[in-house]
Amino acid sequence: MQEMNAVYRELGISSEVLAYGNKIEQELKERFAAIDDNAEYNQMKVLLAMQKNKVSEACLYASSGYGYNDLGRDTLEDVYADAFHAEAALVRPQIACGTHALAVALSGNLRPGDELFSPVGKPYDTLEEVIGIRPSRGSLAEYGVTYRQTDLLPDGSFDYENIKKAINEKTKLVTIQRSKGYQTRPTLSVERIGELIAFVKNIKPDVICMVDNCYGEFVERIEPTDVGADLIVGSLIKNPGGGLAPIGGYIAGKKEYVENAAYRLTSPGLGKEVGATLGVNQPFFQGFFLAPTVVAGALKGAVFAANIYERLGFGVVPNGTESRHDIIQAVTFGVPEGVIEFCKGIQAAAPVDSYVEPEPWAMPGYDSDVIMAAGAFVQGSSIELSADGPIKPPYAVYFQGGLTWYHAKLGILMSLQKLIDKKIAVLPIQEA
Ligand SMILES: *Cc1c(COP(=O)(O)O)cnc(C)c1O
Repeated sequence: MQEMNAVYRELGISSEVLAYGNKIEQELKERFAAIDDNAEYNQMKVLLAMQKNKVSEACLYASSGYGYNDLGRDTLEDVYADAFHAEAALVRPQIACGTHALAVALSGNLRPGDELFSPVGKPYDTLEEVIGIRPSRGSLAEYGVTYRQTDLLPDGSFDYENIKKAINEKTKLVTIQRSKGYQTRPTLSVERIGELIAFVKNIKPDVICMVDNCYGEFVERIEPTDVGADLIVGSLIKNPGGGLAPIGGYIAGKKEYVENAAYRLTSPGLGKEVGATLGVNQPFFQGFFLAPTVVAGALKGAVFAANIYERLGFGVVPNGTESRHDIIQAVTFGVPEGVIEFCKGIQAAAPVDSYVEPEPWAMPGYDSDVIMAAGAFVQGSSIELSADGPIKPPYAVYFQGGLTWYHAKLGILMSLQKLIDKKIAVLPIQEA
């Protein structure tokens, strides 16, 4: 214990903050054990997919140029497909980010005159321009694809009556966002997604049900493809890249729809046949292999933060006890300094750029200053410990990630230390 106190003190954590954190950690033993159980299950699922598809040393080699017959790329796609119980997958470094993956899946499967429908309210901010909710060059709207949405009911449940009314003869694709993103609605469990898909398919069996799976992979034992989703889409610098993928996105699901996306990503006629991997096969495979444990560490960090801050009287979403369906944690401070000090703490705990002090700044696409903390090995990677918060009421910070639980723990303790030093938070009496 002496040694542990000493090393934390060297990092800047007082013994009072460490003791408070350790006490909370003790109380979370059962929660953490359940998270580890899921990780074990998901690890076996990934291993099984790798063995079944005979991943070999040759799969780790790089291709260049056109990338014809890239064994590693094609095998990795089979591994993703099997692990997610899908028919096919597209897993590519040419997919620049999650938004791009979603845009490719949508534009590959929608044609002029079709309608896109979201039964879970407004999609992630960047999707607004992809769809054309906010007018934007090259949007689906410019290509004659219309859009409709039904909001969730105030209690977070599905508005089945209006969902039924919204589905019409033009409805071609239904998009369901699993994670709440930067909204206050609850994240959807895979089970609830399954109920929604069943309802939609009952009204229109041939509609394509796509799930934006960002931040959700490996949080549960099942994925949306296990409950009827035709397509799932995500980013490799979030959960499934395991912190090792330096770029990339994936689309998995029904073969026909994945291929439609591939013809959009590369070109009609070429589809999945081209696309050199330039040496990313190895980190893609290894990252996917590590992803279940990395996600478990990030989840523990989110649960830990919720309990740390809830007991100090701050608003937390999700709360300290509810079940988790993504890795994002929101904490509301009510004052700008809370958001700023929290982010400074996360930054100070980072392995990279720990000496940098983040400051609120005007960012494109935001209507207020935003502060961001990230000291990541991969730029913008949000499976790595990271936080950001718009400087506007209710002064909430969103944080996620942590390649290891220990690092997530340090980041949260460091944020708390900063808040205590600035007297924005006070430890409970018995701990002081
Ligand atoms: C991150 C995210 C996206 C977009 O991914 P980028 O990689 O930032 O483009 C889309 N939807 C959800 C729910 C996300 O969390």
